[in-house]
Amino acid sequence: MIKVGYKENWVDKLYIPAILQGLWVTLKHLITPQKNTTIQYPEYKWKPYPKYRGAHRLNKDEQGRVKCVACEMCATACPSNCISIIPAPAPWDDRERYPVKFEINMLRCIYCGFCQEACPKEAIELTEVYDFAAHSREEMIWDKEKLLEMYDITINGYYEGKPGTFIYTKKKKGK
Ligand code: SF4
Ligand code: SF4
Repeated sequence: MIKVGYKENWVDKLYIPAILQGLWVTLKHLITPQKNTTIQYPEYKWKPYPKYRGAHRLNKDEQGRVKCVACEMCATACPSNCISIIPAPAPWDDRERYPVKFEINMLRCIYCGFCQEACPKEAIELTEVYDFAAHSREEMIWDKEKLLEMYDITINGYYEGKPGTFIYTKKKKGK
C-alpha cells in the first residue's frame, strides 16, 4: 500500500526495525517449505493462466477459411508496428477482402494484445504458447501459413494440466 504524504518518525529513522523486518522475511523463507520456483525445463512445462498472452494465431471459420477480412485494424492498433498485411479482393461472397499476406514480426512484438482487442472479427488471438524460438531473425517473422498452423495446434489447448501448474512432459535422457 502506498501511503501518500507519509512522514518518517524517529523509529523509522533508526532503520533497525526495517532491517529486522527484512531479516524476518528471509528467515521465514528459510524455515518454511516453498513452492518450486525453478523447473526442469523442458522436461517440465508450465501451463499458463487463461489470460496469458503468448504467440499469435490466425483463427479459421467453420469452413476452414481464414477469418481475417484484412481490415488492418490490428496493424493500426499495434504499438510496435510489427504487423504487416497485404489485402486483396476476397474469392468468397461473404466478405470484400482477405489477406494475401499477413506477417507478424515476433521479435518486435511486445505481446500487449492490442491487435486481439482491435480485431472486429476475432480473427487474431494470442495463445498460451511461450516456448518458441528460431535460429535466425527471419524465422521469427511469422507468415499467414504459420499463423494458421498455430490455430490448428492450439485450438484444443497446447500445454497439458491445470493453469498455474507444472506438467512433466517427457522422459529425461537415459531413463
Ligand atoms: S501483441 Fe501488441 S505488439 Fe504484438 S502484434 Fe499485437 S498489437 Fe502488436
Ligand atoms: S486480424 Fe482482425 S483486425 Fe487484423 S486485419 Fe484481420 S480482421 Fe482486421
